[in-house]
Amino acid sequence: MIIETINTSKTSSMNTPEKIECLIVGSGPAGYTAAIYAARADMKPVMYAGMQPGGQLTITTDVENYPGYPEGIMGPEMMELFRKQAERFGTDVRYGMITSVDFSGKPPFKLIADEKHEILAETVIIATGASAKWLGIPSEEKLNGRGVSACAVCDGFFFRGKDVAIVGAGDTACEEASYLAKICSKVYMIVRRDEFRASKAMQHRVLNTPNIEVIFNAVTEEILGENAVEGARLKVGSNGETRTIDVKGFFVAIGHQPNTGIFKDYLDMDETGYLLTIPGTTKTNVEGVFACGDAQDKVYRQAVTAAGSGCMAALDAERYLAAKHSPVEA
Ligand code: NDP
Repeated sequence: MIIETINTSKTSSMNTPEKIECLIVGSGPAGYTAAIYAARADMKPVMYAGMQPGGQLTITTDVENYPGYPEGIMGPEMMELFRKQAERFGTDVRYGMITSVDFSGKPPFKLIADEKHEILAETVIIATGASAKWLGIPSEEKLNGRGVSACAVCDGFFFRGKDVAIVGAGDTACEEASYLAKICSKVYMIVRRDEFRASKAMQHRVLNTPNIEVIFNAVTEEILGENAVEGARLKVGSNGETRTIDVKGFFVAIGHQPNTGIFKDYLDMDETGYLLTIPGTTKTNVEGVFACGDAQDKVYRQAVTAAGSGCMAALDAERYLAAKHSPVEA
């Protein structure tokens, strides 16, 4: 798998900080695209790929809307191809986390990887993406990993031939409901309003799948079971009637939270945590720090737009370094 084939991060055996020209944090389509461009521009990029290299696309099924794949491609396979392309041009891809940053002074910026390895980076490209949101009810937490999951592609297999539920009404929920419908006997789709948020094509697919039952105007009150999911109790309709469904798996697909917590003391972000960039660029409020992909995009959030912004971030970083080192600037 991807994790086995990339480098582990450097260890505490290094006493002096490692100097890096272009540090890329995160490894989704944005991070890998930034890496391809940065490597080809001879910026010797080092990527910290995180705990789940490849980002959100590693937990998705068919990607049918990324140009260049007329038959579609599985998300994990696509991310592996991105990684290979980034490595082909010399990107140092490491399995590890950037655990703290200090953007208070001028570059080089001090960052810590895996809580021990010190880095001094001339430029930083943030491509940390976003993580799944949860309902926030106690039973969801109690049964997480015991039938509750935010990844149908990862865990759907365990419920082969069984009844499952999925919460959400966006493209992700529709995609995952369709995926589950292929392997499970029945899929209840719990939608909190009386309509979907998903694109018409996705809605159409769900509504035309015989073993998906959409329950509109429904809120999950409790996921039932002690050590494993045995069902879910819902409040349905304007009268809030109780309905209990018998399910063995309960999937949550209600959107994502940007992974930007470690930057909050330094970088401008909106109330949800999406990084703010100067319009038309990937420049953050700190010179030398650039943001791309879902960490700064709450509107489009597509693999192809993430990749496009990753390209922009590398070009912005390259131009920033060129200007800094040009004799005119000096
Ligand atoms: P979205 O934010 O688009 O949708 C989240 C859904 O979850 C909404 O329907 C929302 O309901 C619902 N929701 C949120 N909170 C709760 C809650 N507490 N209880 C119940 N329901 C809740 O997220 P997605 O992950 O679906 O999609 C993210 C982006 O990625 C989108 O732009 C999407 O188009 C894109 N995408 C594209 C794909 C593709 O083209 N192949 C595949 C997957 C995603 P409500 O509508 O009422 O707000």
